[in-house]
Amino acid sequence: MNPPDTLRVAGRGAQPAARPYPDVRHYIGGGFADGGPRFQDVHNPSDGRVLSRVPLGGPEDVDRAVAAACQAFPAWAATPIKERVQVFYRYKALLEQHLPELSALVTEEHGKVKGEADAEILKAIEVVEFACALPQMAAGEVLEVSKGVECRIERWPLGVVASIAPFNFPSMVPHWTFPNAIALGNTFVLKPSELVPLSAGRIAELLKEAGLPDGVFNVVHGGREAVEAICDHPGIQAVSFVGSTRVAKEVYRRGCSAFKRVLALGGAKNHVIVLPDADPEMAAGGVLAAMSGCTGQRCMAASVMVAVKGVDHILERMVAQARTLVPGKDIGPVITREAKQKIEHYITEAEQAGAKVLVDGRDAVAPGKENGFYVGPTIIDGVRADMKIAQEEVFGPVLVVVRTRDLDEALAVENASPYGNAASVFTESGGAARYTMERASAGMVGVNVGVPVPREPFSFGGWNDSKFGVGDITGRGSIEFWTKSKKITTKWNREAGTNWMSK
Ligand code: NAD
Repeated sequence: MNPPDTLRVAGRGAQPAARPYPDVRHYIGGGFADGGPRFQDVHNPSDGRVLSRVPLGGPEDVDRAVAAACQAFPAWAATPIKERVQVFYRYKALLEQHLPELSALVTEEHGKVKGEADAEILKAIEVVEFACALPQMAAGEVLEVSKGVECRIERWPLGVVASIAPFNFPSMVPHWTFPNAIALGNTFVLKPSELVPLSAGRIAELLKEAGLPDGVFNVVHGGREAVEAICDHPGIQAVSFVGSTRVAKEVYRRGCSAFKRVLALGGAKNHVIVLPDADPEMAAGGVLAAMSGCTGQRCMAASVMVAVKGVDHILERMVAQARTLVPGKDIGPVITREAKQKIEHYITEAEQAGAKVLVDGRDAVAPGKENGFYVGPTIIDGVRADMKIAQEEVFGPVLVVVRTRDLDEALAVENASPYGNAASVFTESGGAARYTMERASAGMVGVNVGVPVPREPFSFGGWNDSKFGVGDITGRGSIEFWTKSKKITTKWNREAGTNWMSK
């Protein structure tokens, strides 16, 4: 089967007859480049088909990309920021123009349903808009600190910087980092997830079409070896990472020990507290969307519903709605066969430990896509807070219900989690909402919002084991991360001397 005409995959590697897409290639210095001989198959999770092969790059590929980025850096850093962002105005228009194609490519390599893939590209467009606003957002500061003496702060790019992405948002997560980093004057190496490598090549092509000079944006594909080479490379000044907590800790430790700036976002276990006074329709719909959206494969997914006292009427409504969701139509697959097995094992273990599976997504099959890796929405009641399924990240459409007597007990359950990405409360009481906002141990908190992703210009980032490093990955927080400040003190008026500093 050939890819649809509208779907282009960048680069022109080998294309054996059995695979619909050519081999994925690195992108270095403004052109596609071959790497070493090692490849891994890329699957479409919705039907199990092998789509393509991705090269598993290593230190030599990272070295070539850093050399190209290093060469491009002086001219790019010397380009005024107002000129640099013109590329992103044109790039944003290209994203809008190619939205259907880019969204279809995300669906192809990741499996997510069309509405979710469209939303991913729309969020990418929003962060590009923020990059376009950087001349205003990142303007320096100046103040007369003594008579005739001025202090100013200027923001300077760091040099060559890198970003390592997870599988769950092949386009949006890379967009969290490169538009801001590049608009702020850095040159860039992206390492996409080897599970979803196709979108990165189209991003590179569109950036070039938008007028980005060669070498400013580079892509190295691969897995652990490429990541370790990025952490170790002396030519890379800063690394941002998004992925599991286990790897985030490794990347943070390794990058910092090579004296780099590192911001590593990790996994999550997000709690949604539902109080008895919550609006039943809003709570049931909001919690269900938060646990099942993106097939639960998002770091903002609702994973534990902490049910405070009498909320069975809300749970019943949610269970009825969950049963109407159709795998393959309303809900996409999970990323691999192994992920499906792992998620189903969590459910079985909880059931064996005495929990009650109210909606069972095990063995889900999408009609016509029998080889896809589907898990249907799953809701499990009677789960104790100390059970494995209530503590570990499942990363699938699975919601466990933990019951508590009051809000303090619910908050204690939330606070005990080692993670801290998001927490939400559903209530009609302003006081209870405020109480929860203050006490939740999470970087992003929602009130009657199940997925409290901050929109631009508010920054995205969690707490605790969900983030290592200072600052946030998007919005205002990212300006600090991608730049260094220069503090300049000037005095030009000799007559102004009036105090200890001015003389
Ligand atoms: P992952 O940690 O397996 O992989 C992330 C990146 O690290 C990939 O590019 C991968 O190639 C690389 N990698 C994998 N194993 C490695 C190793 N041993 N050493 C060095 N590099 C390695 O994560 P994933 O499965 O791709 O993504 C899902 C995870 O990402 C979930 O835990 C999810 O919560 C998390 N996530 C977090 C956020 C956030 O903002 N906090 C956002 C999206 C996803």
